Amino acid sequence: MALEGRKINFAAGPAKLPEEVLLKMQEEQLNFNNLGVSVIEMSHRSKEFGVLLNETISLIRELMNVPDNFEILFMQGGGTGQFAAIPLNLKGSHDHADYIVTGAWSSKAADEAQKYIKVKKVFQPSKPYVTVPDQEKWVHDEKAAYLYYCANETVHGIEFTPTAPESHNVPLVADVSSNFMARPFDFKDHGVVFGGAQKNLGAAGLTIVIVRKDLIGKEQGITPSVFSYKEMIANNSLYNTPPTGGIYTTNLVLKWIKAKGGLQAIYELNLKKSGLIYGIIDNSNGFYHCAVDKRYRSIMNVCFRIGGPSGNDELEEKFLKGAIERNMISLKGHRSVGGIRASLYNAITLEETQVLATWMNEFEKQHNTN
Ligand code: PMP
Repeated sequence: MALEGRKINFAAGPAKLPEEVLLKMQEEQLNFNNLGVSVIEMSHRSKEFGVLLNETISLIRELMNVPDNFEILFMQGGGTGQFAAIPLNLKGSHDHADYIVTGAWSSKAADEAQKYIKVKKVFQPSKPYVTVPDQEKWVHDEKAAYLYYCANETVHGIEFTPTAPESHNVPLVADVSSNFMARPFDFKDHGVVFGGAQKNLGAAGLTIVIVRKDLIGKEQGITPSVFSYKEMIANNSLYNTPPTGGIYTTNLVLKWIKAKGGLQAIYELNLKKSGLIYGIIDNSNGFYHCAVDKRYRSIMNVCFRIGGPSGNDELEEKFLKGAIERNMISLKGHRSVGGIRASLYNAITLEETQVLATWMNEFEKQHNTN
């Protein structure tokens, strides 16, 4: 569905929401469920909001197939808040945690965690980030409180695929901020799975945290109550005022995912979309260049340079300018890496991806001299 005046928005997050969801929000903005108020005007302790909250939790459980021994929490503070909340909640009597650093976000997570636990990196990260080093060479430890990884590095376009890292008998902690519900997820070996909603699942402000029950209740004494998994579970995420508008938005997005056929259908579409763009990159004789190891290419954030491995600034600027003229926005790569980044989150349609593909083909014809 293309709505008049709307751009094709390839932003990395906050990102595009399905038009169906935005229209539903518009329709319900003044009068939700005949209650005469908007959701964001309702008490978070009202019966009606409770129904919405519990339905949202059930939808996550159903769509992601979350096992019964996990709790689903709605928190605030973003993925960044969880960088601290994780060691605060999981340290227990352990001395250290192991971190897999494959990009900017796992690096930030490790830096933040150091304030609350001793951090050991399972390998020495090397820049530029383009791959996940071979697991046989990792050095880690069964004594760690947990083994942390970022399931999708948004800045570089590196995704753990098709499986999570080997856990070596410690709980895995996964940051799924940028591939939340982009594909079916296997909770095996996981202790905590978390992410902000603002890419695939809704609006900024809501952080979804899925925690294995046996890990709850070991938090450090200094843990702020709003970051305490135990406190949040005891109060069904209503310890304090939750991001009610964010929960509502996610509720609608989850219903949209369900109507699309669930995570397997969404995944197949995401493979098609990203495959289309990677296909053009790979067939361009190096005109388009994606540095990421093919085994770990992200289906969410396709990052590439134009005019060679280090990019040609002039060509990249021209490409972005032409994209804007063709109604496409937010294709500029993260400022730390440059180049182009097309974020193909769930709400981006195949048709929208095709508009980008057409522009890439046209641009290559104009400028590829190879
Ligand atoms: N992890 C990943 C993989 C991210 O992409 C981001 C945000 N782009 C974060 C964590 C931080 O999330 P927030 O801004 O919600 O704190």
